[in-house]
Amino acid sequence: MSSAKFYYPLFTDLNGLPVLIVGGGEIAARKIRLLLDAGAVPRIVAREINEELQSLVDEGRAEHIGSAFSESQLAQCRLVIAASDDAVLNQHVAECSERERLFCNVVDDAQVSRFITPSMVMRPPITVAISTGGAAPVLARRLRERIETLLPAAYGRVAAFMERHRERVKQLPVDARRQLWEDFLDGTGPERLLAGDEVAAVFEIESLLKGAKPSGEVYLVGAGPGDPDLLTFRALRLMQQCDVVLYDALISPEILNLVRRDAERVYVGKRRAKHTLPQEEINSELVRYAQQGKRVLRLKGGDPFIFGRGGEEIDELAAAGINFQVVPGVTAANGCAAYSGIPLTHRDYSQSCIFVTGHRSKDGVLDLHWDALARPSQTVVIYMGRTALPELCTQMIAHGLPSDWPAAMIGQGTTRSQQVIAGTLTSLPELVANRDDIDGASLVIVGEVVKLRDRLKWFSPPAPDA
Ligand code: SAH
Repeated sequence: MSSAKFYYPLFTDLNGLPVLIVGGGEIAARKIRLLLDAGAVPRIVAREINEELQSLVDEGRAEHIGSAFSESQLAQCRLVIAASDDAVLNQHVAECSERERLFCNVVDDAQVSRFITPSMVMRPPITVAISTGGAAPVLARRLRERIETLLPAAYGRVAAFMERHRERVKQLPVDARRQLWEDFLDGTGPERLLAGDEVAAVFEIESLLKGAKPSGEVYLVGAGPGDPDLLTFRALRLMQQCDVVLYDALISPEILNLVRRDAERVYVGKRRAKHTLPQEEINSELVRYAQQGKRVLRLKGGDPFIFGRGGEEIDELAAAGINFQVVPGVTAANGCAAYSGIPLTHRDYSQSCIFVTGHRSKDGVLDLHWDALARPSQTVVIYMGRTALPELCTQMIAHGLPSDWPAAMIGQGTTRSQQVIAGTLTSLPELVANRDDIDGASLVIVGEVVKLRDRLKWFSPPAPDA
């Protein structure tokens, strides 16, 4: 038979009430911190108390009422915690409490405890409590970790905000009240609060009170270089609550799969024969969707502010007075460097790092500051450098780098199809030309750090069809 039992969950108001704690070490201190948060008055019984507890006593926030436990100390206390390192004493405290009909918790001994404290996720004023009834404490901890990642750190702000506006909303009839809160939570208000923009959240509530429809918002989100594990918590959260997503070719199917299932999907990347939706059209699509009151996710590969034209997209939103937020992503340089074992800087080899684009201008010219790029002790990362690779390498040598200077190309970095080709400025273009298995996005890293890969490589994805 299972020894786990069902505990009646209870949140108690201990404000101003004395609680007896037997024990003066770290475990007692941990309990006392929580009691203080709840406004209780801890009364400590212990031969010795640790420094932290001593300073609480000195500040008058806790009382040290004796060095040995006696039953009379239970008088007036509402709750008892036995947290000493003496099991016999703890048990004795529990028995005495039971006689006095007091709830007693013996730390780490559910058998003799009248109450237990759950695992907790705290987002004041929200508390999520988890208990497996003693069946599987490790599982409870896992669950707690999952909930921790689920609830944004500032989530309590949403609850606090709703409390502040409760009175106003109460003027509505009950059904309308509930609907208003539902609309508020479904809308952009909570995200505004999490982003620290209370003014916008107030605006939102005011317009809902006036019966207006919720306003739209645009999330310009960096989706990282490919591996879905590299998304930020915030990116994932916004992906799961948007109404429509605009994405392009760099977004992998695995990542797109994480977008809310019933969100409308709009592909704005390269169409069949290299034809891209003009940037101006993407910009105005974003504005149009947001003006319909939608939460619009603009999902971009890597980081939106690195060779992503993210700045142009939000510029138009700003002009149209639409709320937006920008979520950084792991840029291709960081992702490819990490997953190929090539540190971008290194004390001995490279003291700076430059990101450039190898994209030719309309007239086919590769207009880069070669003198600045062809220098020792630095790393040059070239985005969109595949086509111009031979010219890039030739120019770097022509501007002073040794012909055997290390260089590498990383294709589809961080994904299961990642390919790394390492060589020198002389050999790399040919090594790449001889490979027909490199398709998709690729990045070039030039610098002595490339040599470190031999020892630092760790990521070896299985062959895609394995
Ligand atoms: N905003 C993006 C870059 C967009 S430009 C970012 O921060 O990463 C597109 C270029 O990024 C591609 O041509 C390629 O050079 C690079 N890139 C993006 N993802 C990549 C990946 N997974 N592996 C290699 N290069 C990548």
